[in-house]
Amino acid sequence: MIAHGCYWKKCTFCDVNLDYIGRYDPAPAELLADRIEEIVAQTGQNGFHFVDEAAPPLLLRDLSLELLRRKVKINWWTNIRFEKTFSADLCRLMAEAGCIAVTGGLEVASDRLLKKMKKGVSVAQVARVARDFTQAGIMVHAYLMYGFPTQTEQETVDSLEVVRQLFEHNVIQSGFWHQFAMTAHSPVGRNPEEYGVVCTGPEFKGFAENDLYHEDSEGCSHEQYGAGLSRAIYNYMHGMCTDWLVSEWFEFSVPEAAVSPFMIEQALMQKGKEEEMQMGCRLVWLGNLPSFENSVKKRKGKGKAADKAKLVFVGKHENWELTGHKDEIKWLHNQFSSFLVNSSNKKTLGKLAEDYQKTFDRSFAGFMRSQPWKTLRQVGLLLIK
Ligand code: SF4
Repeated sequence: MIAHGCYWKKCTFCDVNLDYIGRYDPAPAELLADRIEEIVAQTGQNGFHFVDEAAPPLLLRDLSLELLRRKVKINWWTNIRFEKTFSADLCRLMAEAGCIAVTGGLEVASDRLLKKMKKGVSVAQVARVARDFTQAGIMVHAYLMYGFPTQTEQETVDSLEVVRQLFEHNVIQSGFWHQFAMTAHSPVGRNPEEYGVVCTGPEFKGFAENDLYHEDSEGCSHEQYGAGLSRAIYNYMHGMCTDWLVSEWFEFSVPEAAVSPFMIEQALMQKGKEEEMQMGCRLVWLGNLPSFENSVKKRKGKGKAADKAKLVFVGKHENWELTGHKDEIKWLHNQFSSFLVNSSNKKTLGKLAEDYQKTFDRSFAGFMRSQPWKTLRQVGLLLIK
C-alpha cells in the first residue's frame, strides 16, 4: 500500500464508515522507496501491485520522483481516482518511474449519477485523464457500475454508449461492470431514503454480513442489463464491435442512446482546468544533461550563423539537437541542472520566468511560444505540481 484508506472517502456507495476506507494514513515516499528496495533485494521480484483503495496523486508524484532519483527499476500498477491532479505531465512522470497500468472508477458514466454518488469527477474529466494516462503508455482499466439508485433504463444504455466511445477513442483499454450492491457501511446503506430507495432487509447483524436488499421504484429493473453490458465490454476489450449501436447488445428491446455520438470526442478536444499552466509547477527533466555548441552551420536565408547555437542531447535510442538564438540557448543550458530529478536547486516555472525576464528584459510568454521551448516540452521537460 502507498496509503492506508482513501483520501477522498466520500463516494456514497462505498464502505467509507469502515477503517479500511475511512482511516487515511499515507506513508512518506522515502519510506515506501526503502521498503520497495528491500522487497526487491529479498525476493528478486520487481513487479508491484499497490493495493490502495485510491492512491493519492501527490504521493504517487513523490514516489515516482524518489524511484527515479534512486534509479530503482520496477513495474507497478494501482487504483486511482480519475482526478484532475493527474496531469499529462504527472502521467509521463509515473510512466517513467515504472507505472504500467491504473485502475479507477468511472462507475455509472453519467454526470447526474456521478454527482449523486459524490464521486467528484465528471465523464469529460475521466476521458481526459484516461487519455493522458494512455498517451503516457499506461494502460487504463475502468470499474463500471450499473443499478445505482434511481438509475433509469435510458441512463444504463447511455452509460454503455459513453463506454463505447471511450474504447473507440482508445482512452480506456479494459473495464468491468459490477451491479451496485447496497452495503450497511456506505452512506446509501445508512440513509437509503435520501437516495430514493427503500431498504427491505435483512437486519444488519455485523461487519461481514453487510449486504442489504433494496427496492428502487424510480429506477429500472437493473439485473436484466448485466448480460448485455458484459457482452459489449468483452468485445470492446478485444477491439471489436465498437461500431455497433449499443442497443444491439441486449436481447430485449431498449431505447437508442440519447447522448451525442461525439460526446467523448468533444470532451477530449476541450482544454480542462487540469491542463492550465501553473507557475508554481516544478520543472523536471528526465533525460541526461545536454552539451552546448555554438558552431551551427549557416543555412541559406536562415540568418547569421554567429547568432545561433545548439544543445546536443544523448538519448536512449538516438541523439538529437535543439537549435535557437545563441543567447537563449546558452541561458537554457545554464538552467538544465536545476531540472534534474536529483537537483538540490529545484526550479519552478515561475522562477524560470523571473530569471528569463531579468536576463533578457522581455516577456517569458514569447519564449514559451518559441520552437525550442515547445520541443523541450514535447520530448520530456515536465511541469509537475
Ligand atoms: S469508491 Fe474509491 S474513491 Fe470513492 S470513497 Fe471508496 S475508495 Fe475512495
